[in-house]
Amino acid sequence: MPEPSFLNVMSEQSSERTVLCGIGLSQGCVLGRICLFNENRHSNLPMYKVQGKGVEREMNRLRQALDLVSQRLDGIRERVALQIGAAEAEIFTAQRLILEDEKVLQEMRSQISNKNSNAEAAVISVLDRYEARLLEIDNEYIKERATDLGEVRRRLLDVLNNMQPSLQCADQEHCQRGRNRIIVAVELTPSLAVDINTSETLGFVTERGGVNSHAAILARALGIPAVSGIENIHSRISCGTELLIDGSAGEVIIWPDEKDKEKVTQVASERLPNVRVSGFSVAANINTSEDAAEALNVDAEGIGLYRTEFEFITAGRLLTEEEQAERYSRVVQTMEGRPVTFRMLDVGGDKAFDFLNLPKEENPALGWRGTRLLLGLPELFQSQARAIARASCVGPVRVLYPMIVDCDQFLRVRSMFQECIRDMKQGTIQQGVMFEVPSACLSAEEILNEVDFASVGSNDLIQYLFAVDRNNEKVAPDYRTDHPLLWRLLETLVQAGEKTGKPITLCGEIAGVPEYAVRLRALGFPSVSVSPRLIPRVRRALNLQRQGKE
Ligand code: PEP
Ligand code: MG
Repeated sequence: MPEPSFLNVMSEQSSERTVLCGIGLSQGCVLGRICLFNENRHSNLPMYKVQGKGVEREMNRLRQALDLVSQRLDGIRERVALQIGAAEAEIFTAQRLILEDEKVLQEMRSQISNKNSNAEAAVISVLDRYEARLLEIDNEYIKERATDLGEVRRRLLDVLNNMQPSLQCADQEHCQRGRNRIIVAVELTPSLAVDINTSETLGFVTERGGVNSHAAILARALGIPAVSGIENIHSRISCGTELLIDGSAGEVIIWPDEKDKEKVTQVASERLPNVRVSGFSVAANINTSEDAAEALNVDAEGIGLYRTEFEFITAGRLLTEEEQAERYSRVVQTMEGRPVTFRMLDVGGDKAFDFLNLPKEENPALGWRGTRLLLGLPELFQSQARAIARASCVGPVRVLYPMIVDCDQFLRVRSMFQECIRDMKQGTIQQGVMFEVPSACLSAEEILNEVDFASVGSNDLIQYLFAVDRNNEKVAPDYRTDHPLLWRLLETLVQAGEKTGKPITLCGEIAGVPEYAVRLRALGFPSVSVSPRLIPRVRRALNLQRQGKE
């Protein structure tokens, strides 16, 4: 595998193979680079004494933080109930109850009014005291309750200081924020497991945490391999170190050799039955060419979304036409004739390319991004169009334009593509749009008459439909994947697809939730595209539902 240049500068530790034994929390064997969880965000909080009006202000800050954390826990509980299960969702009810405990609340308030502490000091002093008492008791169940207290404290401190749990690489510019990475943390907490987007997390390694911890339960439910009890792992690794984790054996191998790596392939082939769904296809979402092997391994019926911008983000620079052609052709070759959908560079918003030196924007979510940006950067566009045309000689490809706003914009970008590749030898290239901006959905029929296919990007569609930031924790309860208006809109898109005879699929995160995948099929979608790891689970739900078992 070509080593991305940024990884070379990160590790000063030796790259010697080292085997470490811990406790397996969640089965599975996985190989990947690591991403470190930022544990020290609360080490430098403001601590001050208050008097008079200051007391009132701190009381208000505490009250607001308690309200917001309660709301967030409700949101998480609903999300976990839907995506994982009702029993797992109860973890967050337990944390919510701590926030309603009158004795705890009274002690925090009295810390502010009688001891003149600020809100942060009050939270830390009261919750730390309770946590320490519970930790003294030699009982696993009670120790778990202590973890809940720690979680609630972290959540309150995050809100009071406007912070978020985050993944932090030494090299911020190239940080993958856990995508396709093994996350290493001191402790695997439920917040870590649900707050970060785990749909693309490869695995977890932690120093602490028991088999029955809430987080271990969540990791198992999410099917993410996890190992804990690896003491001092932080001193042996740095961002980008390669690890192999075997959740069944409770083993972690730093810088594994080729023989170790064979084990990953072996375990992968022993997975659960993964039966195709008759009359409905499930394709894979991938980020880099290296993900294609996993897509094939789970028998994806094609690549429904190749987020090509991640090739550039991983390399940390612009890629030449030659470099792109090499990666793209490799994906097409790996997929052995199954269609590969290349999404043209979707830059902007939360996926800024520092190396493009674009001016800073006040409101990047609504700024120069998606197809709007592609139309304004013809050279970048040309290198990608030509690289895709070269890959089309290896097998069938589809080109997908992000953030299309109306039919005219699609016609312009399609003719720009055709102009770029006019002189080239090419294979089958279909052209399609993403429905992720409401204006495009309103003109669905007109657009569908022009395209070969379309794919609904529900992640952004929800963001723009309800004017709710998809990345902002504070507004997460309003990011409603079950909102009836969303489903009404999806239905009109399916109808437009049927009327025009054009295939329409959905590649946003909701398709990876088994219950929603079933609902999308019932609505009339003929296919979906999800992260490769979710394919067996989605197929299982669809097959069971057809047999009347769910
Ligand atoms: C989407 O918006 O639903 C989508 C699939 O694209 P991304 O998540 O990359 O924006
Ligand atoms: Mg999108």
